[in-house]
Amino acid sequence: MPRPTSVSRLLMFFVLMLLPASCALIRQTLQTGGERQQKPLPPPPPPTSVHVLIFAMDGGVPDVLMDAVHSGHAPYIAALLGKDEGNGVFEHAYAAPHALSVLPSSTIADWASIFTGSVPAYDGVPGDEWFDRVTMKFYAPVPVSVPETADNAKVVTDDLVGKQLKVPTLYEGLHGRSSFVSLLSIHRGASIYTTVSPGAFPDLFEHLIRGKLKGADEEKSLSASLDRDAITKVLDAFKEHGIPDLQVVYLPGIDIFTHAAPDRLAGQLRYLEHVTDGCVGRVLDEYRSQGLLDHTYVLFISDHAHVPTLADKRHQLGTDDEHSPFQVVHKAGFRVRRASLLLPDTDNDYQAVLAYQGSMAFIYLADRSTCPEDGDKCDWNKPPRLEEDVLPVLKAFYRANRTGRPVAKLKGTLDLIFARPGMPPGQNALPFMVFDGKDLVPIHQYLREHPRPDLVDLERRMNWLGSGPWGYRAGDIVLLPRACMNLPIEQRFYFAGITHYTWHGSACEQDSHIPFILAKPNESGKEMRDIMSDFGGDSPSERELTPLVESLFPPQPHREQTAASKESR
Ligand SMILES: [Zn+2]
Repeated sequence: MPRPTSVSRLLMFFVLMLLPASCALIRQTLQTGGERQQKPLPPPPPPTSVHVLIFAMDGGVPDVLMDAVHSGHAPYIAALLGKDEGNGVFEHAYAAPHALSVLPSSTIADWASIFTGSVPAYDGVPGDEWFDRVTMKFYAPVPVSVPETADNAKVVTDDLVGKQLKVPTLYEGLHGRSSFVSLLSIHRGASIYTTVSPGAFPDLFEHLIRGKLKGADEEKSLSASLDRDAITKVLDAFKEHGIPDLQVVYLPGIDIFTHAAPDRLAGQLRYLEHVTDGCVGRVLDEYRSQGLLDHTYVLFISDHAHVPTLADKRHQLGTDDEHSPFQVVHKAGFRVRRASLLLPDTDNDYQAVLAYQGSMAFIYLADRSTCPEDGDKCDWNKPPRLEEDVLPVLKAFYRANRTGRPVAKLKGTLDLIFARPGMPPGQNALPFMVFDGKDLVPIHQYLREHPRPDLVDLERRMNWLGSGPWGYRAGDIVLLPRACMNLPIEQRFYFAGITHYTWHGSACEQDSHIPFILAKPNESGKEMRDIMSDFGGDSPSERELTPLVESLFPPQPHREQTAASKESR
């Protein structure tokens, strides 16, 4: 089967993410007006009680959002924030100047961290794709290497991510308070989950058939239809149930549009001004008309930002050809798992698995002594042996990057290669170290000798990814491609099955730096900054959002702090 094109992959994304997979589900969604009540609703909060409204802006770049705020073309967001007083302080808001994503800076791991207050090695969700060696199951809630989008559908229909999360969500910690979540992958424990109904889709198909998924016309883009339809569902739920204590409004269109925009970050600016701002405005207007806005904390946060890249095969480190990282692992002496969500039993004799995150890749290795012959199924409950299994792959990538042998295309594409001695699943995985061509070196030691200010807070964030009870899910080897903005665009690379005009996933400043803004219309930006000072101040990480939101609600009798925030703080 030919590899799906970028456009058809995006079509599948829309169809499968938003169109429920079975007729039964479509009926259910139609009958319930595009929402799923997940638990009994408490009575609507009184108008004078505190409300929290979160705009979860997928892929929003902080500088671009600020450009939109200052341009005069994003009037709703600009009016909410008020006058810019400098250093992140606005008249009614505080925008933390150096907020950071966890690693990888890619969608699913980052939203998981934001809405649990935990980190991947503890929450069990390490990326857009991962391999669970205990079950030999490959997960791709956002497909990056694999062409199939079935897991993407399950995010909506079957709470795929919620079932993998090992810690409580923000919503589960808000005992007795109502929480509504629109579209977001992390919705376990929310009172109501709203999705886009099938009725909204003829427009999307129309645009697709006309070839408009080019990132050129933001107003008519499929992304805009998706975001706007989602807002309509949010407002419908307000009509039916009242405005909840907590509302999460997920806006996936920013990310999808930016990936496909030939003018890259300038495209995102157009999208924020002409689509996102209006979506935000419709929700704010509803709060205002019900007299709630002055009692509402409004947050803007992204999962990651974007690095401009070249959308061509030279810069895409792919999956299935003679020139891909898969081939490097194969040449190192491994049977490599094909990039596919599901494999027939006859193909289960693989000894290595690759999972892609855009500007990062995970490699999982078996102890090959358990499966030496073709057809042998490896015992994946055993970790790989450092000398016999991990080192050959490390050396192969190091050599390929230096010399272009045995895969010429890999020459000069890699920045850092990480690994660690394997531990069996069930025990805490060890911290990742840097491979320097000969040895594994602790990250802080490596950085002392090779300072890398462009890779922000690298050791701590790699530990969050890999070092902990679920750290084995991030693999035995992690590859960072050359990706940062201090390199010309011709020297930036990404691991993916498709090419895009922008990517993310790395530890670079550009895609790790996120907007994290707290606003309240009748309070000052300095008050917002004071609140944020307990949650990371001017450089919070994503894991601060959950405890911050918990703190914004006044204590209730018998209300307990969530286990998630206790564990991760
Ligand atoms: Zn994202």
